[in-house]
Amino acid sequence: MTDPTPAVRDRILALPSTELPAYVYDLAALRTHATAVRDALPERVELYYAAKANPEPEILAALGPYVDGYEVSSGGELAHVAKAVPGRPLAFGGPGKTPDEVTAALEHGVERFHVESEYELRMLAELARRIAPRRRVAVLPRVNLPVTDGSLAGSALAMGGRPTPFGMDPVRAEAVVHALADGTYPHLELRGIHAHLASGLQAAEQLSVAETVVSWVTALGVPPAEVNVGGGMTVDYTHPERRFDWAAYGNGLARLTEAHPELTLRIEPGRALTAYCGWYATEVLDVKRSHGEEFAVVRGGTHHLRTPATKGHDQPCSVLPVDTWPHPWPRPAAEGERITVAGQLCTPKDVLARQVPAPGLRAGDRVVFSLAGAYAWNISHHAFLMHPEPGFHFLDTASAR
Ligand SMILES: *Cc1c(COP(=O)(O)O)cnc(C)c1O
Repeated sequence: MTDPTPAVRDRILALPSTELPAYVYDLAALRTHATAVRDALPERVELYYAAKANPEPEILAALGPYVDGYEVSSGGELAHVAKAVPGRPLAFGGPGKTPDEVTAALEHGVERFHVESEYELRMLAELARRIAPRRRVAVLPRVNLPVTDGSLAGSALAMGGRPTPFGMDPVRAEAVVHALADGTYPHLELRGIHAHLASGLQAAEQLSVAETVVSWVTALGVPPAEVNVGGGMTVDYTHPERRFDWAAYGNGLARLTEAHPELTLRIEPGRALTAYCGWYATEVLDVKRSHGEEFAVVRGGTHHLRTPATKGHDQPCSVLPVDTWPHPWPRPAAEGERITVAGQLCTPKDVLARQVPAPGLRAGDRVVFSLAGAYAWNISHHAFLMHPEPGFHFLDTASAR
């Protein structure tokens, strides 16, 4: 659904205009969703949350009971997540790790390193020898594996196996695996394999990725203990009610774990865990007609919610009418059935949603954008045009906060 939950709706309507725009997160809804995801997965499959999707400390903490750990992709995320959810297992991934970041991760005692290149492996080996000589640091080389699945109803799915800065080509990853297994790096332990090959995949596609990765791993001859098959579960912004089929995915993963009892499987979704728990609420400032199209200009814009500009979609939204109009000047209202919702930035790219059915939309009405809980505020260009930052509200009806 695109409609805000009752708690979110009440909060948005209670906020004065001057406190808009605002991000409102429903932590109870997040918990309900995370429970459903966890329940759909086999017990033996580990769930890590990819912190880059939304690293708000309240979100990280609310997910705590449902996840086995957190995936971080920078020294900044590492320090932030370690502080927000102390003592939880961390996997440190991402390209271009600096010596300082690796040093900090070793000093922190990070549980797992996702190694993106041979250079990074050699750097890690030497830093581990110096900083953590008494323990063996767990390493999961990241492989960029070609995944081609012609079995998927006509649409051949081809991804991974393309030039990217991520991970290693299969041949190189295999060489790294054997070097680790042969004891070339005595301070490192080959713990597993990491693969994150695509995003926006449905359950059947995700399963075929997992199967491809697992069969590559088992063919290595030195099967490592863990296989992280990545994140990338789809979120459908056009049809928000069509959610990733966690039950089907969980059933498939159960078959995979039964076939490979020696492996621990892990997944690390971001978007599909937190997208649904966040809303970006604002109010209409102006309604106008331009060359045959109607526009509602709202407080804020894509410098707060960059998701629609980045992904090229219309952010799903709903209108909360506000009947009072506090000003002595006339209130503008839409004449047509559909309207384009734009922000306050001086660029034609600052469009949040087009063709929104909102007959009679007036200045002062509130517009609430849903699916704003992932890759939203934290990917946006906040400083552009120097408008005020939004407020942040974390609702937790369960603990009546
Ligand atoms: C971004 C990322 C994820 C999460 O991807 P989603 O599409 O948010 O599920 C997982 N693993 C790695 C390595 C990533 O870079």
